[in-house]
Amino acid sequence: MVVVMHPDATEEQIQGVCAVIEKHGLEPLLMPGNVMAIGIPSAIPTDLRDPLEQRLSILPGVSKVTQVSRSYKLASREFHPSDTVVDVGGVRFGDPEIVVIAGPCSIESYEQLKDAAMAVKAAGAKVLRGGAFKPRTSPYAFQGLAEEGLKIMQQVGQEIGIKTISEVMSPDMVGLVASYVDILQIGARSMQNYPLLIEAGRSGHPVFLKRGPAATLDEFLLAAEYVLSNGNPNVILCERGIVPIDRAYTRNTLDLNAVPVLRDQTHLPIVVDPSHGVGVAKYVPALACAAVAAGADGLMIEVHPNPGDAVSDAAQTLSPDSFCQMMERVAAFANVAGRRLKA
Ligand code: PEP
Ligand code: MN
Repeated sequence: MVVVMHPDATEEQIQGVCAVIEKHGLEPLLMPGNVMAIGIPSAIPTDLRDPLEQRLSILPGVSKVTQVSRSYKLASREFHPSDTVVDVGGVRFGDPEIVVIAGPCSIESYEQLKDAAMAVKAAGAKVLRGGAFKPRTSPYAFQGLAEEGLKIMQQVGQEIGIKTISEVMSPDMVGLVASYVDILQIGARSMQNYPLLIEAGRSGHPVFLKRGPAATLDEFLLAAEYVLSNGNPNVILCERGIVPIDRAYTRNTLDLNAVPVLRDQTHLPIVVDPSHGVGVAKYVPALACAAVAAGADGLMIEVHPNPGDAVSDAAQTLSPDSFCQMMERVAAFANVAGRRLKA
């Protein structure tokens, strides 16, 4: 249930609403925005719902009371009508400006990451990506440089002046990864690792949550709910492709349906990763444009100084030149969509 206050509601009226909620043994959650909204995220006994709604709707300062019908509460737009902006040190996901995250799939060396960082920053990317802990299908494939990679990421981020993101795969590593990078990436394979989601929630660090390749949108939003309900409002959603019916030409199927549907159902910012979504470098720019046209708040793109040498995901990785060209193309779509790509 969510209680939306009048724009000119007083502090006393807000406290009055909270007191009534508490009197019923429930916990109010204050959600400041254009107008103050007060949520009740926990389950309300069925026989209490209607009387409580009536009781709250006649309190002074209350504009309307809505019951949240979805299984996810904090993530739902019913609960939080206005768009959420996740601000990562001034880089704002969910603003009119589209945020581009770019960099290699894996951090391979200081030189590799620095070259990638300089190229993507020059082309307009605001966040540098690179995995230090890699979720690989084969245990014999390159697993990442681990903490050494995170140190490289932190150093390059500081030298170049760009925000950073890297994947965390287990709950016990959340603190370590958060101490080196600005955003914690939770990978597609980990979307339903509930202990990891809980720990990422407790950390309060911005979380970039990728949709599992076979996850429904409800499962995706319930995964976000784990982070939100553990006290962390800084969740960015990422569509990165779902299991395809045909792998002859592409790796996954980028589910662009997800963008407008999520926009309807949730207030959280939505980023699209066409690199993993299609898995073929030459198709990435077209899908990046399509994602922006569909209303994405940001893009995640794999870029390597020499894509042919990339130790992981070489086939879907853009060169700095192709990335630059892609950014020009995407900027045109951003304008048409009433957004901006570069400040
Ligand atoms: C990645 O971003 O490199 C990655 C492993 O992505 P995903 O979790 O979407 O497969
Ligand atoms: Mn990758």
